[in-house]
Amino acid sequence: MKKRREDPKVRGTRVTQINTTTTEPKIKRTKRTKKTKVAKKTIQKKLPKDDDALYGILDEPNINYIQFGVDKRFHTWYGTNIYFENGSRDLGIVTENGVDRGGVIESELVKKKPTTKKASKMWLDTLYVCEYCFKYTDIKQHLIDHTKVCTFKSHCPPGKIKYKSPKYTIRRVKGVKHRLFCQCLCLFTKLFLDNKSMYFKVDNYEFYVLYETNDNKPIGFFSKDLLSYQQNNLACILVFPPYQRRQLGTLLIEFSYKLSRLQNLITGPELPLSPFGLIGYMYYWSSIIAYEVIDGELSNRSTMSLNELSLATGIRTNDVVMTLKHLNCLDSKNRINIQIIREWFKKQKTSKKQTIDDTGNIMIEEKYLLIDD
Ligand SMILES: [Zn+2]
Repeated sequence: MKKRREDPKVRGTRVTQINTTTTEPKIKRTKRTKKTKVAKKTIQKKLPKDDDALYGILDEPNINYIQFGVDKRFHTWYGTNIYFENGSRDLGIVTENGVDRGGVIESELVKKKPTTKKASKMWLDTLYVCEYCFKYTDIKQHLIDHTKVCTFKSHCPPGKIKYKSPKYTIRRVKGVKHRLFCQCLCLFTKLFLDNKSMYFKVDNYEFYVLYETNDNKPIGFFSKDLLSYQQNNLACILVFPPYQRRQLGTLLIEFSYKLSRLQNLITGPELPLSPFGLIGYMYYWSSIIAYEVIDGELSNRSTMSLNELSLATGIRTNDVVMTLKHLNCLDSKNRINIQIIREWFKKQKTSKKQTIDDTGNIMIEEKYLLIDD
């Protein structure tokens, strides 16, 4: 593939050579055996040389810890070689001209020591990542120096505000406009999601990044493929590890449906979902369906079709079916048992978990939506 120069900020990154999720060959993640090693080798041999190096999936985590900002430290969940130079364990992205340092934090104060390669399954003990812009380094002091001058810490974060409540703000960041931020965000995401592999080709994506209002640290996001043939309303979703277990995934999912409802779309996320993604969606779909059936526009009906439920909720029919099966309220003739939904809904309302309110919202308050385009 022909190499071409891009935006100077990301000069030399292999933006044009990355596989997208739709074209990338899938390798089933199984326990590593001799057989799977051979199978992987065979698949990779068929790929062009550059794609081979960019494929990115490793069987096990290869970075032990992430230091996210100066005070948050946690393990990675999945391995990736995309942070590293081709065929090496040094950070960077190789180009025909050497190493591109687009996302790597450089500091004039401390010079990098030569790499000492250890015989360890971990390529790197700690990757230091800026919690404002996702630039990265393997040297702690570089992160400390960078944090003092990071543009997104001291100034406004990137993108346009699309939701602002007293608690949370969601900003839409266009990949084409803030390419480096979005690329670094995708690299970081890869350490916690193994079913998505879009890294650099961000121009056709929008990223909806979640912040606490009055704070510049991103706490989660979802991306949206603008060229999605199925018009999916979400490609990839992640709440960053320090901020999980606060129902923020539900907030982002709910927001993605608010956007598609405004476009009159019956839609849903790109499949397959990650295990955590599936749990989040199942909760959201169950809540919305139960609300429509019990308190919403279908509440005066004793029977309803799957299509009517889909139209009332904005959720795809297949996802409605999956949810009703999960709730155990669909018989073999696709008849819906409303009593079971009623009982589930009642149980949710009495639980301590935040549930859907009388207006059909869980986390999003519609008066704070700022959707003007
Ligand atoms: Zn930064």
